[in-house]
Amino acid sequence: MLDRKHFRKDSQPVVRWIDQYLKEIHRYPVKSQVKPGNIKNQIPLKMPEKGEDISTILRDFENVILPGITHWQHPNFHAYFNANNSTESILAEMITAALGSQCMIWETSPAAAELEERMMDWFKHALGLPAQWEGVIQDTASTATLCALLTAREVSTGWTANEDGVPNNLRVYCSTETHSSIEKAVAIAGIGRKNVVKVATDTQHRMDPKALEKAVRMDLSAGKKPIAVVATLGSTGLMAIDSLEDIGPVCRKYGLWLHVDAAYAGSALILPEFKWMLDGVSQADSFVFNPHKWLFTNFDCSAYYIKNPGYLIRTFEILPEYLKTGTRGQVNDYRDWGIQLGRRFRALKLWFVLRSYGLSGLRETLRHHIKLSQEFVKWIESNQHLELIAKPVLNYSCFRYNPAGKELPPDTLNRLNQELIRKINASGEAFLSHTRVDDKFVIRVLIGQTYVEEKDVTTLIQLISRMLETMEIE
Ligand SMILES: *Cc1c(COP(=O)(O)O)cnc(C)c1O
Repeated sequence: MLDRKHFRKDSQPVVRWIDQYLKEIHRYPVKSQVKPGNIKNQIPLKMPEKGEDISTILRDFENVILPGITHWQHPNFHAYFNANNSTESILAEMITAALGSQCMIWETSPAAAELEERMMDWFKHALGLPAQWEGVIQDTASTATLCALLTAREVSTGWTANEDGVPNNLRVYCSTETHSSIEKAVAIAGIGRKNVVKVATDTQHRMDPKALEKAVRMDLSAGKKPIAVVATLGSTGLMAIDSLEDIGPVCRKYGLWLHVDAAYAGSALILPEFKWMLDGVSQADSFVFNPHKWLFTNFDCSAYYIKNPGYLIRTFEILPEYLKTGTRGQVNDYRDWGIQLGRRFRALKLWFVLRSYGLSGLRETLRHHIKLSQEFVKWIESNQHLELIAKPVLNYSCFRYNPAGKELPPDTLNRLNQELIRKINASGEAFLSHTRVDDKFVIRVLIGQTYVEEKDVTTLIQLISRMLETMEIE
């Protein structure tokens, strides 16, 4: 066991290791290359009887654990959506761990509750969300969306579902491009997965508001009870931006809760040139975006906003004797604003990041990423063997290999692209992920790691070029 008196000395090797790691991150394969079981088989089945030396533990961390890490902070991490950190957020997390606060109610750390309230206000103004909305930090967008649907369920059943159980005729609408977390939330909320209605999309992959209204009317005439619509700003597959201006009126007309999932693209709302995505947002009831994706605040940190926090609290409030306090009503007790009782102090890392970057620093970094992505798109367009798929949005693009003059059948093209991405990811030089568009296997590229530079985009371009040369067509 470590003696707490020697913290300064004991922490030095760790701090040195972090510094070295971040400096030399290019040395590591972006995507871990281990096979299933490789790591587990090196870890003893039982915990040690006698305590071990911290230097031994650190050595094993490097030798056993590190090979099984995919390096999300590598500038050539272009898969899924980024989960960025920054020096600021690493430092704040160290302090958060040192404080070790459990921030369930105001009294268990007043500063945590009040800083959280202010950080949510800062974002509300920076993004341009309606002034009367209030925010709360959740762990993930999945949890925030579950909170939204549970609240919608309570409001629409006249606050009876929590008490009596869930009626089996409730319906929730989203588009065919919607994230899987919506279906999962509907299932967990007891509404039933079969009551998710996937509405068709238009040519820009946005939810078609006419198809939405038609689906709602059909359900009403069949005795179902439509309760909520989930719109997406920045879908996972193709970065589609649903029109809140078009969907909002349908929700108002039929009294449906409108939840906006802006998990990824919401960060770009700090840029005036993307504020158009919010047109019509005043008709929404709730909204979520993830600073842990593209705002340099390490996982997890998701910002959830709600037009009427009273509804949220009424859905989740539970008051056992041991949690009754004299400050109730004067302060925010965030345990009533979500699912779990215990809460981490997540506002501190936001405070560090937002103050150190400032709004202008955040804007500059996002614009830099968008510019790098546009350069990458130019290269794709200039390569006759590559086909740009869907419109590039923000720092996202999507392409596939389609060798010029070959007219290959769809299945062959899909197989070739699977092979191409496998080779790219096996190289360890970059990590890309894929999606399917109209049955085409396509490769997604996000250029958005906190410290990504022009030279990293050059590395990516050279890597793809090299792998294209190794592709064998039959
Ligand atoms: C990332 C993402 C999610 C899921 O986010 P978590 O915070 O991991 O739950 C949901 N919806 C969209 C559109 C996303 O991009």
